[in-house]
Amino acid sequence: MIRFEHVTKRYPDGTTAVDDLSFEVAEGELVTLVGPSGCGKTTTMKMVNRLIDPTAGTIRVDGEDIADTDPVELRRRIGYVIQQTGLFPHKTVLDNTATVPHLLGTPRKKARARAAELLDLVGLDPTVYGHRYPDQLSGGQRQRVGVARALAADPPVLLMDEPFGAVDPVIREHLQTEFRHLQRTLRKTVLFVTHDIEEAIRLGDRIAVYGHGRIEQFDTPAAVLGAP
Ligand code: ADP
Ligand code: ADP
Repeated sequence: MIRFEHVTKRYPDGTTAVDDLSFEVAEGELVTLVGPSGCGKTTTMKMVNRLIDPTAGTIRVDGEDIADTDPVELRRRIGYVIQQTGLFPHKTVLDNTATVPHLLGTPRKKARARAAELLDLVGLDPTVYGHRYPDQLSGGQRQRVGVARALAADPPVLLMDEPFGAVDPVIREHLQTEFRHLQRTLRKTVLFVTHDIEEAIRLGDRIAVYGHGRIEQFDTPAAVLGAP
């Protein structure tokens, strides 16, 4: 589904953020990228939806070299969730979730009905929370809206960059469990960045352990934990 072939990214100032990276993520698989700050995780993610382009190498999504795709079209297939969810502050939770599909051509009523379903799926009762504004939610609830909004466009691929990073540990564990369940149910292909090895192990089908610009280990949680 996602395939990196000898991908290198050097920024204009000479920093090599990612160095000759090759790996593959299967359809419906959740891969966590884990490692210390500055080791190239976010750079890896941004290249998948062409927020930045590699200096060398090829990235394929569904077999297609993304260098040949229109970035706007590509981003319709790839949702992106970040820690600061970037919700529209002057839109309600329901409108935040329904806006993108509506802009992409889904009739307003249908987009809102689907948005309500998705809010329910992420554990926010739309009759209670749908009409609130983002600043009337807790941090954990805002992250849930961020996930619902990314799912609303129904992309087969989701990029998630420390989406639960700002949430307190108890809520965070809830979100992890629910998101894992949701990802399996909807069969999304997910790349998930975290600097928390426990989160990486709890969520990942496989884990990419990053060192400086490289993946040092790419394996199942059991193997990363050193189980026989
Ligand atoms: P991580 O997500 O693992 O924290 P990043 O991918 O953000 O790592 O960064 C990898 C390396 O690239 C770091 O050394 C960082 O300072 C550098 N870097 C990131 N973005 C830029 C940029 N726009 N220009 C120059 N260097 C950058
Ligand atoms: P969390 O641990 O998820 O961050 P909080 O302690 O921030 O939760 O919030 C607990 C409850 O208070 C939640 O149900 C949330 O909806 C509500 N709440 C938080 N901030 C506001 C606000 N500004 N206006 C209305 N309700 C709020």
